[in-house]
Amino acid sequence: MRLILLGPPGAGKGTQAQRLVEKHGIPQLSTGDMLRAAVKAGTPVGLKAKAVMDAGELVSDEIVNAIVAERIDQKDCRKGFILDGYPRTLQQADAVGKMLTKRKRKLDAVIELVVDDKALLGRIAKRSADARAAGQPVRKDDDPEVFPERLREYYKKTAPLTGYYYAKKLLTNVDGMASIDDVTDQIGRILKAVKKTAKKK
Ligand code: AMP
Repeated sequence: MRLILLGPPGAGKGTQAQRLVEKHGIPQLSTGDMLRAAVKAGTPVGLKAKAVMDAGELVSDEIVNAIVAERIDQKDCRKGFILDGYPRTLQQADAVGKMLTKRKRKLDAVIELVVDDKALLGRIAKRSADARAAGQPVRKDDDPEVFPERLREYYKKTAPLTGYYYAKKLLTNVDGMASIDDVTDQIGRILKAVKKTAKKK
């Protein structure tokens, strides 16, 4: 199963992706995690990406497309994967489409977690406060001063993907304001329906 989780930063994509990993035994491909690992390791990609990420802006399509193209060829992705935080631009959406076509694979579903901005700002403030309380470093891009820029980037560059995937009949919405368990159930029901349709074809 190849799945995309869409939604603004802080919508809960990472949490749901982890649950899907456990349930379906396929990996979560989070470009944010991969970029943070590159920054930590001080690779050339990490050195390029750091300032952009710290400012809450998007890393270039070229960089993230290359990271994903390499990652999906790894053995653990054979049965499928969950894309979390990618694609984030129309160019990336086209790129992943081409990557899959080239490999004779297709996307099974795109699930959008719908949440409201006020709730997101609250969630991010809580995430920073929790990290601080636990004595952990706060992600620079989770800083309440940087977060609104991430949200702006989302609306400018990523939100158009909902129309893109709707037109391809791949998009389903879930109510991201519901409890974590409820969101998991909503996603479970969608995937069940997707599998059923795939069997009939
Ligand atoms: P995330 O943890 O998914 O919110 O990603 C953290 C940061 O990494 C983002 O704010 C961007 O700077 C960068 N990033 C992650 N994924 C992408 C992507 N698909 N395209 C561009 N930049 C990305």
